[in-house]
Amino acid sequence: MKIAVVGTGYVGLVTGTCFSETGNQVTCIDVNEEKVRQLQNGKIPIYEPGLDVLFNRNTEEGRLKFTTDLASGIEGAEAIFLALPTPPDEDGSADLKYILQVADQLGHLLTTYAVVIDKSTVPVGTAEKVREAIARNAKVDFDVVSNPEFLREGVAVEDFMKPDRVVIGTRSEKAKKVMERLYAPLVRQGNPIIFMDERSAEMTKYAANAFLAMKITFMNEIANLCEKTGANVDMIRKGIGTDSRIGKRFLFAGIGYGGSCFPKDVQALAKTSVDYSYDFQLLNAVMKVNREQKKKLLKPLFDYFNGDLKDRTIAVWGLAFKPYTDDIREAPALENIRELLDAGARVTAYDPEAMGNTKSLLPDVTYCHTAYAALDDADALMIFTEWPQFRTPDFDKVSALLKNKVIFDGRNLYEPEQMRELGFTYYSIGRETVEVS
Ligand code: NAD
Repeated sequence: MKIAVVGTGYVGLVTGTCFSETGNQVTCIDVNEEKVRQLQNGKIPIYEPGLDVLFNRNTEEGRLKFTTDLASGIEGAEAIFLALPTPPDEDGSADLKYILQVADQLGHLLTTYAVVIDKSTVPVGTAEKVREAIARNAKVDFDVVSNPEFLREGVAVEDFMKPDRVVIGTRSEKAKKVMERLYAPLVRQGNPIIFMDERSAEMTKYAANAFLAMKITFMNEIANLCEKTGANVDMIRKGIGTDSRIGKRFLFAGIGYGGSCFPKDVQALAKTSVDYSYDFQLLNAVMKVNREQKKKLLKPLFDYFNGDLKDRTIAVWGLAFKPYTDDIREAPALENIRELLDAGARVTAYDPEAMGNTKSLLPDVTYCHTAYAALDDADALMIFTEWPQFRTPDFDKVSALLKNKVIFDGRNLYEPEQMRELGFTYYSIGRETVEVS
């Protein structure tokens, strides 16, 4: 099938590449000329494990192409995916300007029947708006389908190629057939394609992300209570995660959720609730707790240095919002680093993939080539991302490099008991604090 993907970011590039892998002829379109130039020259502008193998194969075999020109990019495409940004507007709602702008252009450009597919995360009712925007100028028949994406950055290729389920919102039999043909190779193991109406498909995506954000936040609240009561949140996680009704995933307490999806999607769902005069109290609590959780380690850090960070050097391990990605959108590290700099501290940082993206946002940080280099002469270490390479460092080296043997760990990478034996003062989330005088 000939398909087009408009918007070649984390979702669009993975979508386009994976659909070319299943034999389709794919053109990815983006307004960012530099990005498209890089892609045309065989360079992937994001870090996503496993994407390079598929990308190289399909570009070499001529199934995957890139352009900045929407008109030629969509020519003859039976399916046109919209993988455009939907960032939060000032009032928290999802900003639809990119989607509606492209929909308007498509109205002028369509020359044959096409299924236009919302892959972006969009509020209830967007498919209707997209349909209206295209219809204003369209001279041919078309359908608009809602097909939310559930991939996770860091494992995006695997998620896309083997989805737990595919959700498709449409009431058009013709569009349904196109979508079935596209997705059939990805659901051969029997995972379902779930068809529903457009509004329910749009809401499904927000419900999924809000639920997961709530699950993490619930554990963070349990963690906070554990600290006060002397319980250990890791034990609670094991104790409840083995209950099949609860499940093991998304139960890790930490320094709050971030990323390009959870914060904005929870906010957008809250705004939808306001728009429909519904008081979604639970969502408001999730957002409030997460805002506070993100700053949780600052108090013990300031206390440790008697309230004064001036001229202290704080080493930071991890900038990305989670491991295996270079994405720093809403990453807890960023907010914390800003607070440290505002308090007069110097910050030395290391992240295996995300330093390039962080440099322009936080130019005053010293970026280091290795995790150990960031520790050199630093007063304390803070950890914000659970990259595997931080899990078993050479602690002799860590203590030799740090001025004070103190670690503020936002991801619970180490065992308190082990840190006590090694002589570190150690703050983590929802577990005993180890204080070594
Ligand atoms: P992104 O910012 O990485 O990519 C969006 C791309 O669209 C950018 O390359 C941008 O240059 C391009 N663009 C903007 N305007 C354009 C236009 N008029 N024409 C063509 N291209 C244009 O965003 P993303 O992370 O891929 O997210 C896209 C959507 O998918 C969002 O709605 C997001 O909520 C949703 N989503 C994201 C993820 C994720 O993990 N990143 C997962 C599921 C769903």
